[in-house]
Amino acid sequence: MRRFEILEPKSIKEACRILSEKEDVKVIAGGTALLILIKHGVFVPKTLVNLKKIKGAEEITYNPTEGLRVGALASIYDVESAPAVREHYPLLAQACHVVANIRIRNMATIGGNLAHADNQSDPPAALVALNASVELTSRNGVRTSKLADFLLGSYETTLEQDELLSALLVPPPLPGTRCTYIKFTTRSSEDRPCAGIAALVRCSNGICEEARVAVGAVSPVPVVVGEKVTGKKLTADLIKELAQEAGELVDPIEDLRGTVDYKRQLVKVLVRRALTGCIVEGVV
Ligand SMILES: Cc1cc2nc3c(=O)[nH]c(=O)nc-3n(C[C@H](O)[C@H](O)[C@H](O)COP(=O)(O)OP(=O)(O)OC[C@H]3O[C@@H](n4cnc5c(N)ncnc54)[C@H](O)[C@@H]3O)c2cc1C
Repeated sequence: MRRFEILEPKSIKEACRILSEKEDVKVIAGGTALLILIKHGVFVPKTLVNLKKIKGAEEITYNPTEGLRVGALASIYDVESAPAVREHYPLLAQACHVVANIRIRNMATIGGNLAHADNQSDPPAALVALNASVELTSRNGVRTSKLADFLLGSYETTLEQDELLSALLVPPPLPGTRCTYIKFTTRSSEDRPCAGIAALVRCSNGICEEARVAVGAVSPVPVVVGEKVTGKKLTADLIKELAQEAGELVDPIEDLRGTVDYKRQLVKVLVRRALTGCIVEGVV
């Protein structure tokens, strides 16, 4: 049996102090990823710092000027069901709603999902498409980083050993923004994504003012396409071109969920479908 010291700080400040003072220490939030790794002996920490007793660390707030702030300890279910998320960020609600199953979504936290940085995850692609940032807190202060910069690779982030991911920040949505998330699984409907496509499009008078498609789970970090269509009419040909580009840019690995060629082909189809769904009602 493995034995740990478990500390239960009551504030982010106290948690950061523990992280900066202890050795062989690991933060635990929902435990859905970490406990599996501990059981397999990947981590054998001497001390676990349970974040779940920190009051207010799961709060979700929204205001139209600053946007959305999600405390890192909010569960994936808290995020998908928050009225502000459903109303202003349906893309994020959609991506959280398809994570695993309700039991996992109730335990797993959004902070744990992003800090763990498993590339076969749903929320990161949606959040990169939404241009979200993460707030990182340590004893020395608070810094923010674009999520796209924070994620370095599969299980790799810029998080320092003594830092906590304290919140997720999403800028206010601009009027007229349309978006969709398509998750494709090849094993069971509750499985991690074989590919996850988050598309966001804002058009005015038929001209595209913003388009961002983040392709998740098919590369070490979400791959983004769409910038080149700004100022253009989003025609079927242009959508096809973007879908082609996405399929070529991704860097899939062959695994139980499919071969490299299969995944590239899948990305081309899903990106086309997601973008079309943003501009034509009833496609996705
Ligand atoms: C059966 C199963 C199916 C799943 N299916 C999906 C799926 O379909 N889609 C999907 O996206 N995900 C899926 N997941 C992954 C799940 O979303 C993650 O395990 C979960 O979000 C991690 O959050 P947690 O709070 O449980 O993290 P924990 O397990 O507590 O921690 C994970 C890691 O993050 C670190 N950490 C946690 N919180 C913080 C913080 N605030 N600051 C700094 N570091 C922190 C921990 O030290 C640890 O290294 C699945 C998981 C399981 C077990």
